[in-house]
Amino acid sequence: MSSQRGAMMSRVRTKNTGLELTVRQVAHRLGYRFRVNVAKYPGKPDVIFPRFRVALFVHGCFWHGHSCQKGRLPKSNVAFWAEKIEGNRLRDRKNIEALTALGWQSFELWECQTKNGADIESFLMKILPR
Ligand SMILES: [Zn+2]
Repeated sequence: MSSQRGAMMSRVRTKNTGLELTVRQVAHRLGYRFRVNVAKYPGKPDVIFPRFRVALFVHGCFWHGHSCQKGRLPKSNVAFWAEKIEGNRLRDRKNIEALTALGWQSFELWECQTKNGADIESFLMKILPR
C-alpha cells in the first residue's frame, strides 16, 4: 500500500466514524433504542433499531461507490479501484438481501447527504416510526 493511499484510507475511516457517532447522538436524542455494530447480523450494520427491525448502514461515498461527486474513482489505478468498490457494492447488496430474508428493513445513509445533525434527524424520522 502506498503511503498516499494509507493516508486516504485513514482519513476516510475517521470521517465515517465521526458520522456514525453523530447518527448515534441524534438517535439517542430522539429517544430511539438502538445497538451498534452488531456482528451477528449480515454486514454488521452500523446501527440497528431492534424494535422496528431496521438496520442502518452509514456509508462513505467513495468506498461504497455512491453516484455523487465523492463517489468518483481516482484517476490512477482505475481498474484496481473499480474492482474494489464494485466488490464493496456487491457485498452491500448481498448483506441487505440477507437482512431482508431475516425480516429486517435496511437503509443506507450516505455521507454526502448528511452534513449535520439536522439532516440525520430528518433521515431517522423518515425511516423510523414515532
Ligand atoms: Zn455521496
